[in-house]
Amino acid sequence: MSDAVLYMRAALAAAERAAEAGEVPVGAVVVHAGRVIATGWNRPVGDCDPSAHAEMVALRAAAQVLGNYRLPEAELFVTLEPCSMCAGAVLQARLKKVTFGAHDAKAGAAGSVVDLFAEARINHQTQVEGGLLGEECAILLRDFFAARRTQAKERAPMQDVLRTPDARFADLPGYPFAPHYIGDLKGYQGLRIHYLDEGPREARLVFLCLHGQPSWSYLYRRMIPVLADAGHRVVAPDLIGFGKSDKPVDEARYTFMFHRGMLANLVLRLDLQNVVLVCQDWGGLLGLTLPMDMPERFCGLLVMNTDFATGDAPLSPGFLAWRDFNNKNPDMAVGRLFARACPHLSAAEAAAYDAPFPDATYKAGVRRFPNLVPDHPDVEGAALSRRARAWFTDQWQGRTLMAVGMRDPVLGPPVMSKVAKSIRGCPPPMEVPDGGHFVQEWGEDIARRALQVFGN
Ligand SMILES: [Zn+2]
Repeated sequence: MSDAVLYMRAALAAAERAAEAGEVPVGAVVVHAGRVIATGWNRPVGDCDPSAHAEMVALRAAAQVLGNYRLPEAELFVTLEPCSMCAGAVLQARLKKVTFGAHDAKAGAAGSVVDLFAEARINHQTQVEGGLLGEECAILLRDFFAARRTQAKERAPMQDVLRTPDARFADLPGYPFAPHYIGDLKGYQGLRIHYLDEGPREARLVFLCLHGQPSWSYLYRRMIPVLADAGHRVVAPDLIGFGKSDKPVDEARYTFMFHRGMLANLVLRLDLQNVVLVCQDWGGLLGLTLPMDMPERFCGLLVMNTDFATGDAPLSPGFLAWRDFNNKNPDMAVGRLFARACPHLSAAEAAAYDAPFPDATYKAGVRRFPNLVPDHPDVEGAALSRRARAWFTDQWQGRTLMAVGMRDPVLGPPVMSKVAKSIRGCPPPMEVPDGGHFVQEWGEDIARRALQVFGN
């Protein structure tokens, strides 16, 4: 572990102290000459002090330790992007550097709302770096607020959740994989989440395969054996509402952050390292936002027929037609859709895409997804996706393979050439001439190419 990660872990531990005291969980440490000299956590409620943010508490303590109100050799590590008050205090103290974890879209003064650190008219400049252990820092905050909402509602009655009977998944062609379940994922307690976990646990690389709408991990069945037989671990979750994962009935429960948070928490729960993100469709809309907040875990990207959900460009006519079709067909014939889109499938393979959905009540997640694609810059997920696009453009250091199903009318070549320009070091794509939107159904060759790109 790098020193910076150790210091951020100390800040996270301080944030937990705040949560225990019922304060918003933000923690900070000040490091001087390689040593943590002061720790602070949020305490404005307990102290009746609007200035008692974690950073302020830590800076006050550090100044006492050093006997100086200026701290030019010191660095601050804080779990949340500083607000304007704390950024101001950092500049007053002449700190050398600030490293923060989660971004704060509502009050961040290091770029999210304003950027005081980039203000050339201010006489001192402090270096700033964001996103270190960002996902872990953000989860702490999300869990805190989720628990508060639950308490406020005095535990609303459990909403209806459906579980597809196992019998519907018996003997699906080409899908011999053992199921794995988590029923107590942080923030998702009460929902059973399914994932495939093939290949050796101690493999050097983990291929994390994310499906989209209206498919499930079945879509990766042609690629998984190629990767696992080469000695790699392959983890392929089913999104909530899909495959063998549980399916809340209420469409309102399915939001961008609901799905994204599940994937982030799953990566942390399984403690996946050396991850190659494999994504298509919603697997990409969601998955592409993960690496920037846990960059230490991701080393590769296999990106197929997807996009950044940035909400800052008009949605294509092809997508609008798809959304319209989806909304007019609340009981979409999913198997039939696959038979049309992938003419080489056997009838039994196409029918396997119907397996998760005994009837229309199971399809809330299917119905909801096209309506979650941001069509405006302020829609949930759009700002996050813009940050992800900028991160992949400027900071991505891993290897990339792009594979494009050339016959996809929605997320085909024109969209993918734009995506390619947003990914640092993206080589010319592997074109799959016969491949449609569900390009994994032509995936054996893609998996073999992936072995060449990532395998050694
Ligand atoms: Zn503050």
